[in-house]
Amino acid sequence: MAVRRGDLVEVVAGNQAGKRGQVLKILRVRSQVVVQGVNMRKKHQKQQQTGGQRPLSAGIVEFEGPLHISNVMVVCSKCDAAVRLGTQREGGKVLRTCKKCNTVVDK
Ligand SMILES: [Zn+2]
Repeated sequence: MAVRRGDLVEVVAGNQAGKRGQVLKILRVRSQVVVQGVNMRKKHQKQQQTGGQRPLSAGIVEFEGPLHISNVMVVCSKCDAAVRLGTQREGGKVLRTCKKCNTVVDK
């Protein structure tokens, strides 16, 4: 998969299209990603008793819902746009590059 945790991605399809954020989590089995600040969901959390520990407080909890991986694209910092990625070999390592400007995306 081209998208990795920590990447800045842009949502290119669906009702969250146009939003940008950092990848927080990758759900490999379901081919989904969780992106910071995108697809916010609200959950009405009931007060919970967690065996001896601090009880989970009740209230409305906001959290990011998952998106399908095909709906996001990595943002190239140089082009400032959602781009396709290519690869480039450098001493045994495979680096991801922007297909538009050939800048290495990986840090
Ligand atoms: Zn680029």
